Amino acid sequence: MPDQAVSLRGLRKTFGSVEAVAGVDLDVADGEFFAMLGPSGSGKTTVLRMIAGFESPTEGVVELAGRDVTRLAPFERDVNTVFQDYALFPHMTVLQNVEYGLRVKRVAKAERRERAHDALRSVRLDGFDARRPAQLSGGQRQRVALARALVNRPRVLLLDEPLGALDLKLREEMQVELKAIQREVGITFLFVTHDQEEALTMSDRVAVFNHGRIEQVGTPAEIYERPATSFVAGFVGTSNLISGYAAPAVLGKEGTFSVRPEKLRVVLGDGEGAGPDEHEAAGTVSEVVYAGPATRFVVDLDAGGRLIALQQNLQVSSMDVLGLRGSRVRLVWHRRHEFAIADAPAPGIPREAAHS
Ligand code: ATP
Repeated sequence: MPDQAVSLRGLRKTFGSVEAVAGVDLDVADGEFFAMLGPSGSGKTTVLRMIAGFESPTEGVVELAGRDVTRLAPFERDVNTVFQDYALFPHMTVLQNVEYGLRVKRVAKAERRERAHDALRSVRLDGFDARRPAQLSGGQRQRVALARALVNRPRVLLLDEPLGALDLKLREEMQVELKAIQREVGITFLFVTHDQEEALTMSDRVAVFNHGRIEQVGTPAEIYERPATSFVAGFVGTSNLISGYAAPAVLGKEGTFSVRPEKLRVVLGDGEGAGPDEHEAAGTVSEVVYAGPATRFVVDLDAGGRLIALQQNLQVSSMDVLGLRGSRVRLVWHRRHEFAIADAPAPGIPREAAHS
């Protein structure tokens, strides 16, 4: 078994009558890039703060590298936190900001300089020493915050919504960048996000939080392709449930099943239907959303319920697809792409039609 950088055992935190964290067990291995993903209020930030030492647990244990640190102060723990607002000192230069932690620890000046320059190089900000935070872009400020934490060479870096303050394009660039930086420095990164795409893109593994508990821990592919619960299926992607009467009618079995939108083929008119290992469901297109590279079809099934199908626009233009509203179609998919959901909700339609 690899060494565990972080281990949480039976972690609980209540604020008055609010149970923010309701019993969390988790192991994060050394060198992992690990995401805590969940909606607002699901308790992930509180877990991060308990690992950092800014909150103390109501119950449970926090271990770092096998050592119980539950009662230790933040500065006694081998972790550093990068906050969402970066918390840079505006009156200091980039270099002074990065050196600050070492100065507090009374590291000699020459070593301080060298380590600060190393840290700035690792976030690709060499040459920016003399700038002040106000003279930097959002992405550059984010990197300074990262360098300021990396300079301490912590065993674990905690990141609270690290890309939350950046616009979409920069966020996508930084997702790739952050992953590359983590690979280079080899430090365990544990980050909090409510953005499923961010979690799937950057992480080695993801823990999905809901109501103060972890619903599933797995690799991005496991979480997406094999969600353990209906909550995970819906939060990470579009849930697309086949349940109630539709399950026996379409699949020949009882239960609740899910199939991802991009796994569905939309067949028009008398086009080729299901092959030997495929299932199909007939329905009517109730909505068509053209999104450039792909089109989203919302299909009301004859058997009850509704599925969303995502098709790449390989041969078609917006004019072709938008005219399909109201058309009769069949949705076809390979059986290996349908999976059973354990905690079946009441039979019905997926909670969102426009979101995927
Ligand atoms: P977000 O993404 O919005 O930060 P989160 O998943 O990180 O959400 P937490 O911030 O951990 O969730 O909050 C979990 C619950 O605990 C929420 O209901 C929140 O209101 C409550 N909570 C968090 N901190 C405190 C506090 N200091 N005092 C009282 N309640 C708190």
